Amino acid sequence: MSPRPDLGPKPRLGYSQSLIERVAERRADKAWLASAAADARAAAYVIGGELIVLKKSGSAFDATFSLTEARALGDSTEMVFLGLLDGAPRFGFGLNPDVAAALKPRSDLLVIDLRSIAVQGLVGADHLPPLAQAKALLNWHARHRFCSHCGAATHEIDGGWRRDCPSCKAQHFPRTDPVVIMLAIDGERCVLGRSARFAPTMWSCLAGFVEPGESFEDAVRRETREEVGIACGRVNYFASQPWPFPTTLMIGCHAEVLSRDIVVDRSELEDARWFGRDEAIAMLQRRHPDGLTTPPPVAIAHHIIRAWVENESGVF
Ligand SMILES: [Zn+2]
Repeated sequence: MSPRPDLGPKPRLGYSQSLIERVAERRADKAWLASAAADARAAAYVIGGELIVLKKSGSAFDATFSLTEARALGDSTEMVFLGLLDGAPRFGFGLNPDVAAALKPRSDLLVIDLRSIAVQGLVGADHLPPLAQAKALLNWHARHRFCSHCGAATHEIDGGWRRDCPSCKAQHFPRTDPVVIMLAIDGERCVLGRSARFAPTMWSCLAGFVEPGESFEDAVRRETREEVGIACGRVNYFASQPWPFPTTLMIGCHAEVLSRDIVVDRSELEDARWFGRDEAIAMLQRRHPDGLTTPPPVAIAHHIIRAWVENESGVF
């Protein structure tokens, strides 16, 4: 058994460890929300669909705008209440995606997708969780303007945390879609796959949506069998990560294999194969001889693979 590799300090997982207090008990209090919006310390993240608007500040970027600055960029689709940061109100300010795209030529702004912000570290890591919160919530509003029971137009209430139907009185709450993401392990080797949309050198954990009536553990076993033809036994939960593309929650797991022959489902994956532990370590350290890599530290797959190479069977 090879010794525990020295991979340096653990990087922070993206979009997690939010400093925002959501103060959900305040959401139904209209007068309190109005006073929060009028607070001089209030600030907003400005988002138009997949685009995030940042403010240029010298060679760096500001993630937040005052509400006056945000309103000057365009009319809001919704303004949602995210919570309090050290007592200061934080909002998500939704722009129509076309309005956000039209801001791209402005030299005082950067209009860019959230993945690029996270991977390039364009703003402090503490801004990623509220950006994810605001983006996912605003996306839900954009896609749920009509009642799924009766088809009538709905309206938002509670600071953006509910939509009500005036016709059939149904209440609709923001949704999160669970996706299992797992590393199938056979002692000193693991299965990684790649999708055709990945960067050409990147290999990652397998993943798939949890279906109705299914536990996380069963979803891990089903998806691994479907995508690479491998049966799994023990499944251990590792950690989770909000993944606002658009409204996913990634549930990271390690799985112990019961069979070893890989049969790739080419409709899901471009390729999948076994990787030895030493090869996975080289990929994490960006020193693989063929330039192969794991996903970057912002993604939970990086941490799932790292936990295995550092702890081996200790993940079970
Ligand atoms: Zn209805």
